[in-house]
Amino acid sequence: MGHGHPTRSLTGQPLPGPRTSSRPPSCKKHSVSTTSRGIVIAGGGLAAVRTAEQLRKSGYQGPVVVVSDEQHLPYDRPPLSKDVLNDSGKGVGDVIADVTLKPAEFYSDNDIALLRGAAAGSLDTAARTVTLADGMVLDYDELVIATGLVPKRIPSFPDLAGIRVLRSMDDALDLREHAASARRAVIIGAGFIGCEVAASLRKLGVDVVLVEPQPAPLAGVLGQRIGELVARLHRAEGVDVRTGVGVAEVFGTGGQERSDSGEEHGGQERSDSGEEHGGQERSDSGGEHGGQERSDSGGEHGGQERSDSGEENRDHVAAVELTDGSVIDADLVVVGVGSRPATDWLVGSGVSLDNGVLCDEVGRTSEPHVWALGDVASWRDAGGHQVRVEHWSNVADQARVLVSAMLGQDAPSVVVVPYFWSDQYDVKIQCLGEPQAGDEVHVVEDDGRKFLAYYERDGVLTGVVGGGMPGKVMKARAKIAAGAPISDVLG
Ligand code: FAD
Repeated sequence: MGHGHPTRSLTGQPLPGPRTSSRPPSCKKHSVSTTSRGIVIAGGGLAAVRTAEQLRKSGYQGPVVVVSDEQHLPYDRPPLSKDVLNDSGKGVGDVIADVTLKPAEFYSDNDIALLRGAAAGSLDTAARTVTLADGMVLDYDELVIATGLVPKRIPSFPDLAGIRVLRSMDDALDLREHAASARRAVIIGAGFIGCEVAASLRKLGVDVVLVEPQPAPLAGVLGQRIGELVARLHRAEGVDVRTGVGVAEVFGTGGQERSDSGEEHGGQERSDSGEEHGGQERSDSGGEHGGQERSDSGGEHGGQERSDSGEENRDHVAAVELTDGSVIDADLVVVGVGSRPATDWLVGSGVSLDNGVLCDEVGRTSEPHVWALGDVASWRDAGGHQVRVEHWSNVADQARVLVSAMLGQDAPSVVVVPYFWSDQYDVKIQCLGEPQAGDEVHVVEDDGRKFLAYYERDGVLTGVVGGGMPGKVMKARAKIAAGAPISDVLG
């Protein structure tokens, strides 16, 4: 691995000559070592930035290198489906600046080497090296995996222009451009991202059909009852919400373009557990959510994967046929059927994978000196379950815990109550705690648009979900953290 390729030091400077990649096996001690290879962070999103920042805040003075396969400075993803998409008045430069997490000076001032357009290609845990896609080899004392997610595709979709996904800044800018001239969009999958895109496209005046195989939007994450309140919100804004149906075929302008399997698309099996950023996936028995192994390894070659180059030379999407036989004319299709952990580069490395990178409760993987956090990582929770969380606020908490453990410092002893939000129209949907779709749901307020609901499992308050009720959601934090009985919140 890396044999014959130039190597790169942790400051990103090419080293003088090629070096052999074979090294004696590294010491198995699972704490930071005193050599000066430094810490490599693979991934260029929120988790990478928070980790790098936390390392410096915690007094770590060795080399830190962040390896990002994107060209942009690391940026924040939540606005991609919201302001980036619907604020059509803003120029692209301003849009990018608004969501950039840290200015370029942050990296230079903190002596953090940020390698952009550099994909981690493989890992050799014995040699403690990461080989980049271009062949460069990086040595590390400690490696942090923060490679996030890859959007799932529907491989059997035909190769048509106008079929998009949304995960990255480039996806968002591209979708924004398409949306500017779109008349009608079909959004496949009513998870958080599908719902947010629906709201943003409505704001731009696009007709939207939201297709979800489950009985209601977000039903897999929040349960059917709350999902129906979300459907009501979208219908009130003019979205045509079709539930209980999938996609049978997709047609292009040049005639019928069969989606070849004839199977039902729409993500029933893909989007029903912890979809997108609403995701919080449990895999207690080590297998039921083995997403990255079982699902879409071939899925990235579907038509909707293609970038815009040459888009004008291809047929454009024209219509979508649903499994109930209805045909919807559409000039834009957004596939929002969830994401899978970006772990392809780790296959064969020895790092244990099962619906993400398996970690203990502080982010240690199965391999010494290798850690993981963020959307890609499945951490063990206090109950011994593996849980992979796809939420923004989780990342900073994990970075603090992981860095403390790595540096041998006391881990922060805060009780973290999981939290995420989703902005749809003027309604901020907030979720605090760990509600599950199967919990009993108590809707305690509902004015026809805004709502508040408590979730109960075995008599205990597990979470609260509110739409447009920020203060009331947050008020439940202490009770959720304490595992209060549901009677504490039900008058
Ligand atoms: P990411 O942000 O995905 O970063 C991973 C980075 O690693 C990416 O830059 C990727 O390109 C890079 N990478 C991947 N593979 C490699 C490789 N081999 N080598 C180098 N680099 C690699 N959460 C909320 O709580 N509320 C919201 O409203 C919300 N909205 C969202 C809207 C959208 C459109 C999306 C996509 C997510 C949203 N989220 C939201 C989720 C939140 O953004 C994520 O939880 C968060 O971004 C996770 O950060 P991360 O660093 O783990 O992963």
